[in-house]
Amino acid sequence: MAQRMRPAKRRMKMTGSIKEKRVRTGFGYDVHRLTEGRKLILGGVEIPYEKGLLGHSDADVLLHALMDALLGAAALGDIGEHFPDTDDAYEGASSLELLRAVSKILFCHGFDPVNVDVTLVAQAPKISPYKEKMRENIAQALNLSLTDVSVKATTEEGLGMTGAGLGMKAYAVAVVTERIEKC
Ligand SMILES: [Zn+2]
Repeated sequence: MAQRMRPAKRRMKMTGSIKEKRVRTGFGYDVHRLTEGRKLILGGVEIPYEKGLLGHSDADVLLHALMDALLGAAALGDIGEHFPDTDDAYEGASSLELLRAVSKILFCHGFDPVNVDVTLVAQAPKISPYKEKMRENIAQALNLSLTDVSVKATTEEGLGMTGAGLGMKAYAVAVVTERIEKC
């Protein structure tokens, strides 16, 4: 990394006007309640399970945390501001569609995602068979390669609300670079 930085710094000294791409980090967190009679959608994948997450949209907790991390990296607010749950337009909305919209918002403000890392906290069901499809969905929506998208899952060892199966949580980190040119 240090070696890669050197030429840009040298250029900056010579011209005094070429700006280096700024790297920024964002963090996101979300929680949804589990309830009967709802589909379970995580990372844009429908997962067979006896319960689903409750919410105005499809309640994809994993993508919600990710969108907040991306918006946070760009200091562009949060998903509640961009897609208010009081707006009927977002009732039952696909969070994968909303992720595509966030990707466009970032692009227009001059931000390009570099890599993202998401951790889902859920006692059940087992997520591992669906992780690759989630990574693909996210990579496609953000125009990233698979290797730049990490999806992990863990439990809280039966403790707390996730342990009791009352809900699921997700944490996400996103790194973006800032372009000089905007839309
Ligand atoms: Zn949410």
